[in-house]
Amino acid sequence: MIATTQDSVAEAARILRNGGLVAFPTETVYGLGADATQGTAVAKVYAVKGRPSFNPLIVHVAAAPWVAEIALPDKRFDLLAHRFWPGPLTFVMHRRPGTAVSELVSAGLDTVAVRSPAHDIAHALLEAVGRPLAAPSANKSGTVSPTRAEHVIASLGDQVDLVLNGGPCRVGLESTVLDLTGAAPAILRPGAITADEITAVLGKPVSMTVAEGDSSAPRSPGQLASHYAPELPLRLNAKQAEPGEALLAFGTAPSEAALNLSPGGDLIEAAANLFAMLRALDDKARYRAIAVMPIPEAGIGVAINDRLRRAAAPRG
Ligand code: AMP
Ligand code: MG
Repeated sequence: MIATTQDSVAEAARILRNGGLVAFPTETVYGLGADATQGTAVAKVYAVKGRPSFNPLIVHVAAAPWVAEIALPDKRFDLLAHRFWPGPLTFVMHRRPGTAVSELVSAGLDTVAVRSPAHDIAHALLEAVGRPLAAPSANKSGTVSPTRAEHVIASLGDQVDLVLNGGPCRVGLESTVLDLTGAAPAILRPGAITADEITAVLGKPVSMTVAEGDSSAPRSPGQLASHYAPELPLRLNAKQAEPGEALLAFGTAPSEAALNLSPGGDLIEAAANLFAMLRALDDKARYRAIAVMPIPEAGIGVAINDRLRRAAAPRG
C-alpha cells in the first residue's frame, strides 16, 4: 500500500493505461479500477473478485460530458447529473453504439451504468488516465465492501497492482442505482441519494424495483428483460462444427473455427472476447447455430460457463 501523492496518482494512471488494476477511494467505497475500454483489464477485475457469474460494472467518469461517448443522450440524466454529480448516484443508460467501453463491462447488456465519484483522488485519477474506469467494490465476491485501504489489502492483497490510500470513505454505502432505460425511472439499488430527492428534480415519481423486505439486494441483471442472449441456439462443449454451425473456439481449434475466444487458451482473454464474439456470430443469415468449444471450469472460466449455459438454456 502507498500513501497518495501526485506521483502515486501518475503511477496509478500508468498502470491503468497499461491494462493493470488499481484500487482507489471514492466517497462510497473503495473501487477496483480497470480501464473500461480494455476488455482484458475488465476481465481481470472479474477474475480477481472471484465472482461465479458476470455482473455489469459501474463505469466511473471524471465529469458528465464523458458520458456522451458512452451512453445515448437522456434529458433526465442531464437534469439529475447537474444536481447530484459528482456524487453517489449511478445511472443505467442505453449504450452508445460503437462506444469504446468494453462489452464485458455491460456483461452483454445493451445498457451501461455510469457514475462520477465525489472524491479528489478518484477525480485526479480519472483525469490522469483520461479514460473511463470500470470499478466494482474492491473486495472478494460475497464479502463486505471495503471502506478503508486496509480492507482492500486484506481482501485482495497482491492481486491488485496498486492501492491508492485515501483514508476512510465518507459515505461508506454503495451508490443509488437509477435505471433510465425503461419508460419510467426506477431505482435498482437504494443508496445515499433517495427516491424523494430524485423525484423532486424530475417532478415525476420514481419507482422502486427492489424486492420487498430486501433493501440491499439489487435486481439481478440476469432477470432484466433486455439481458442479451444470442438469437441463434447455442451448442456447448462442441469439438467441431456441424453443417451450418459457427464454431466459437477456445485454444487449439479445428480449421473451420469462425472465431477463437483465445487461441492460446487464456481464460482472461476469453472472457474479454466473449460477448463481442457471441454477437458477431449471432447472424441468422449465415448460421443456424453457434457451437462453443469446452471452456475449463476454473478461475474466470466458471463465470464464462455460467453465461454460456444461460445463453444455451431453452427460452420461454
Ligand atoms: P458494485 O459492483 O458494488 O459497484 O455494484 C454495481 C451495481 O450496479 C450492481 O448492483 C449492478 O447490478 C448494477 N449495474 C451496473 N451496470 C448495470 C446495468 N447495465 N444494468 C443494471 N444494473 C447495473
Ligand atoms: Mg460489491
